[in-house]
Amino acid sequence: MKISRRHLLQITGLGLVVAGMIPRTAFAARNSIKSMRTGVQPGNKTRFVVETSNRPSYTLVYGENTLTVKLSNTPADNSVSPKLASGTLVRNISQTQIGDSVNIILDLKRPIAEIPKNQIMILEPNGDNDYRLVLDFTAGTTKANSESGAITAAANKEEKKHTIVIDAGHGGKDPGCIGRGGTKEKTVVLSVAQKLRAALKNAGFAVYMTRSDDTYLKLNERAEIAEKRHADLFLSIHANANPSRSMKGFSIYTLSEKASDEEAQKLADAENAADKIDVTGFEQFSKDIRIALSSLQQHAVAEMSEEYANGCARAFNRAGIEQQPGPAVRHAPLAVLRSTVPGALIECGHLSNKAEEKLLKSSSHQDKLVAAIVKSIKNYDFEV
Ligand SMILES: [Zn+2]
Repeated sequence: MKISRRHLLQITGLGLVVAGMIPRTAFAARNSIKSMRTGVQPGNKTRFVVETSNRPSYTLVYGENTLTVKLSNTPADNSVSPKLASGTLVRNISQTQIGDSVNIILDLKRPIAEIPKNQIMILEPNGDNDYRLVLDFTAGTTKANSESGAITAAANKEEKKHTIVIDAGHGGKDPGCIGRGGTKEKTVVLSVAQKLRAALKNAGFAVYMTRSDDTYLKLNERAEIAEKRHADLFLSIHANANPSRSMKGFSIYTLSEKASDEEAQKLADAENAADKIDVTGFEQFSKDIRIALSSLQQHAVAEMSEEYANGCARAFNRAGIEQQPGPAVRHAPLAVLRSTVPGALIECGHLSNKAEEKLLKSSSHQDKLVAAIVKSIKNYDFEV
């Protein structure tokens, strides 16, 4: 049975909305509904929270005056009575069992707008709470309300903005590598990242930066931003250094448990050392990577990252950006990448090479890098 990568992402509840059959083989333990409630949030928002024993896997279906939250691998449980706050857009909540799934139907007082991705959260268990799927929504119109009948969120995908999280490497007390002429990696990559943000926003993407100024962030903090934003793609921008001053060119890295070659391992050691500045962050990394590299879903993310990285390398090649000798795409245990978010670390070139240091500093070369990255993102198939 072929399981699409999108389905795998949905199964593990990364917040990607897709409709369709989910193969039974991919199911973990059966989920259960623990509680449901509504509340009022600032900005006239209604909040709906469903608490579940396992990480929820959901699909949203927008109807004329309903929002259906479909939880897969979960039985209906009518002993759970929803707590409805006053002043929300929800009139009533009911449940129906459909096969292995439960449809939680929110009967609405008024039509609602399609819920943006950043208003959908899955919270980890803490204190007295289990997993919680949290939806914040406002009144408005969806396509479902202008046409008749319900449509699924998946059918709306043309309108969905993809979210890119850009990480400018290093920053603050961590300069990254330093060129022969004194150019700091943290400065060059921030400039590239800022240009990239502007270009991607122009192209219609939702864009977030891990840092937008000269700030030090731990590697796991950067990765957490990508997870929190439900990034469709996470790009960590870097520049390289090599003991050999003649070494030049870009290379692109994706996450793996083991380095693909000695060069990749050295790079991972160098980049991961950013966290040695902050020891707690480094310890956290080894724990994170152990937890992270274990399931089917990680395999799907690895495939998507690989596909993106190959496309990015092609775009760099086409733009005439010099490639480091050896494979353009390599793999390494990089602490800034997460196996839950498709992404790559781009080493734009070598600051240790005098000519390339000059290029990396120049605005026109930075524009060239940015144009190639934008092309690679436009060509990347987000929906596979
Ligand atoms: Zn770096």
